[in-house]
Amino acid sequence: SRQFTRPLNDLANQWNSLLSAIAGAERVFEVMDEEIEERSDSASVKLEKMQGAVVFDDVAFAYDEGRDTLSGISFEAKPGEMVALVGPTGAGKTTLIQLLSRFYDPVKGRITVDGTDITSISHENLRSHMAFVLQDTFLFKGTIRENIRFGRLDATDEEVEDASRLANAHSFIMRLPGGYDKVLDTGGSGISQGQRQLLAIARAILAGPNILVLDEATSSIDTVTEIKIQEGLQRLMQGRTSFVIAHRLNTIRKADKILVLKQGHLIEQGSHDELLEKGGFYSDLYHGHLSMNGEEEHV
Ligand code: ATP
Repeated sequence: SRQFTRPLNDLANQWNSLLSAIAGAERVFEVMDEEIEERSDSASVKLEKMQGAVVFDDVAFAYDEGRDTLSGISFEAKPGEMVALVGPTGAGKTTLIQLLSRFYDPVKGRITVDGTDITSISHENLRSHMAFVLQDTFLFKGTIRENIRFGRLDATDEEVEDASRLANAHSFIMRLPGGYDKVLDTGGSGISQGQRQLLAIARAILAGPNILVLDEATSSIDTVTEIKIQEGLQRLMQGRTSFVIAHRLNTIRKADKILVLKQGHLIEQGSHDELLEKGGFYSDLYHGHLSMNGEEEHV
């Protein structure tokens, strides 16, 4: 299948396809959707409402047969909890999120949302309850207003602006020539990366998901914008089950549960305090004895 040979740098497009599915604009990425369709025949359950209880039960996944990318993954996220995914590059953080969003299905074990095996939920229905705020925000050629409304296509102008206020995006938008009617280029090249993230937050608030996926930016964003982003994210995450691929200690500390992944295994899980008490990999990482890759740091 083409799925297994797709280059890693296509990941951004995959995410865009997920976003388009959320907004109900499935036809934007027809090819991707058709690939997903193929696997969704048996999915019959439609969740009208969702609490956002997520359980992974001994989940395994392999991109290539015979070599597990993830194995033995078991954890529970209660509705409204914030879960931080931590671990070295290649540990499987992104893959875990892709399983949760049914971009791929596990080869072993089971993932449930509110007690329902997600393989019995169609990807459209599942993703109508999810939103993504990723490092590369998907922005298309169109006005700022249209780009935010992508989160929920039937939202009124007032709802778009309310979401933008909560996201801390309103003030920068109002300073742009044209304000909400300013036309963005594909990718949003006319505004800063931090501002693109604020738009992604506004869009996600408008979508009103029960499950939220955040990929924390690694690149540096100016302090003032960063504070705005953190505040916007805080409001966005309130009352929603969130999964954060986290790079910053401040974010990780706030999590209800930290999942420490290493080479496809969930080696530790717990709160910041619990993991420090345990004195394992996370604790060593925190105290600076280890690099992310588990090697001893030589200073
Ligand atoms: P990073 O922090 O660098 O984003 P990650 O923890 O998110 O890493 P994944 O992207 O989930 O890690 O990758 C886990 C493993 O699976 C890696 O070894 C990666 O090379 C491999 N992998 C990821 N995507 C694919 C794919 N489409 N086909 C084959 N192998 C893949």
